[in-house]
Amino acid sequence: MIVAFIRKLFGGGTADPVPAASPARQRTRGPAAPAGPKLRTYKGAELGIRPDQISQAAFRTCEILQRAGYKAFVVGGGVRDSLLGFVPKDFDVATDATPEQVQASFRRARIIGRRFKIVHVMFGRETIETSTFRALQADAETDEHGRVLRDNVFGTQQEDALRRDFTVNALYYDPVADQVLDWLGGVEDLKARTLRMIGDPATRYREDPVRMLRTVRFAAKLDFHVDPATLAPIRDLADLIENVPSARLFDEMLKLLESGHALACVRRLRAEGLHHGLLPLLDVILEQPHGERFIEVALGNTDARVRAGKSVSPGFLFATLLWQLVSDRWQARKAAGEHSIPALMEAMDSVLDEQASKLAIQRRFIADMREIWGLQPRLEKGGRGALRAMEHLRFRAGYDFLLLRVEAGELPEELGRWWTEFVEGDAATRERLLEARPGEARTSTKRRRRRRSGRRAGGEGAAEGAPDAGNDTPEVPEDDPRWRDPLPPHASGGSPRSGEPPA
Ligand code: ATP
Ligand code: MG
Repeated sequence: MIVAFIRKLFGGGTADPVPAASPARQRTRGPAAPAGPKLRTYKGAELGIRPDQISQAAFRTCEILQRAGYKAFVVGGGVRDSLLGFVPKDFDVATDATPEQVQASFRRARIIGRRFKIVHVMFGRETIETSTFRALQADAETDEHGRVLRDNVFGTQQEDALRRDFTVNALYYDPVADQVLDWLGGVEDLKARTLRMIGDPATRYREDPVRMLRTVRFAAKLDFHVDPATLAPIRDLADLIENVPSARLFDEMLKLLESGHALACVRRLRAEGLHHGLLPLLDVILEQPHGERFIEVALGNTDARVRAGKSVSPGFLFATLLWQLVSDRWQARKAAGEHSIPALMEAMDSVLDEQASKLAIQRRFIADMREIWGLQPRLEKGGRGALRAMEHLRFRAGYDFLLLRVEAGELPEELGRWWTEFVEGDAATRERLLEARPGEARTSTKRRRRRRSGRRAGGEGAAEGAPDAGNDTPEVPEDDPRWRDPLPPHASGGSPRSGEPPA
């Protein structure tokens, strides 16, 4: 399969199911390039890229390797984004030096990875991921669907370009010589704002199904048009995503969600009809009848945070994405007569158990999610418990989460305002807020309140005014064995943690 792909790419192929879609494509595959892709070089100024757009660390990495006699280029997103006028997220370097040779060239460099070694070159706080040119192997080991299991063979720079995913991701910039190298028409595609898979798209997706997600992510992030031949096979091949090891899928999904364009990605997936199967989590979240607004608000907030250069906590993010499921099950259990807290615990467990195998969400993130969700009933309630809730290590995240629910129309605006005033207020303000709601002071009494039909604490219809208005299931007596406090006592002296959306 890969032999066929390479043959096709080099112009020697016979059957080609993918029509040539542009001059750039014809150039790399047609008779004009029988001996392989043709190199075009550009001076930086021709394309509007300057060496000072490259981080000092990446520049130094290239310079030092070149002085040691090796080739070294900035490649991938760092070049693509600089050419487009964005500030790149990071810079990767590609070189013909072996990992050992790279390591020997720097004072602070570490080889990582066993199967496929790359080198982390460190300058101050910046780390430059430096990889040796690699080739697609004609006889690479694949699974039964064509997914490449090993691709750790070193190659020439030209081969390294061919094994990359999109033409715009296969541009090499030498910041020392101020020169861009392009074998595959990436510059033309960049100018035409086209995302084009290198080689035969279906084959490339089979080799690595994660590339389908990358297509969507880059199209949304760059606001590029996807070449029709690149887009076409995704619908049929989307199921192959299931064969990707879940940890890898999780990483790629996180990249999508933290791209600063998560909402656009999700909309794009939907518009293309690709949300089924391609991203297991999306199946879950987009199929929920009233979850959409919440997801839109949550992803919109996350995007705004990323674009403002703030950090995003994966635990918070996944807590938002799975919230509607948790909330629905929580409400259903409460409606069936279960007490609020145990009902929430059960709902959380069932959702997390279900997702664990699909998504491989790391344990530490799961712990965060539980705490953020677990804080919600207490925050909905406000009152005297507010002071105690504020001492919780995850209070800030729980409070931000509550604000999202308010913004999504799931909880009354007054509740959000009450909390914000409470959080920002001094001791006197807080006392006044507590006094203003005499009902709140009774939160620890073991009284039973009558259930009011049709009201829900979390889901739609919870729009009551007071902080505890939505919480209308009977309280669990504190000695009830069903009581499991979702909130373990926090480490003493811990302050509320910030850094979660939407601060
Ligand atoms: P970002 O701005 O999101 O980091 P990027 O293009 O740098 O974008 P990375 O995931 O950091 O994306 O990958 C770096 C480069 O490695 C890509 O530009 C591409 O050339 C190559 N690459 C990454 N993943 C794949 C893949 N699955 N298949 C082929 N090439 C890939
Ligand atoms: Mg990158």
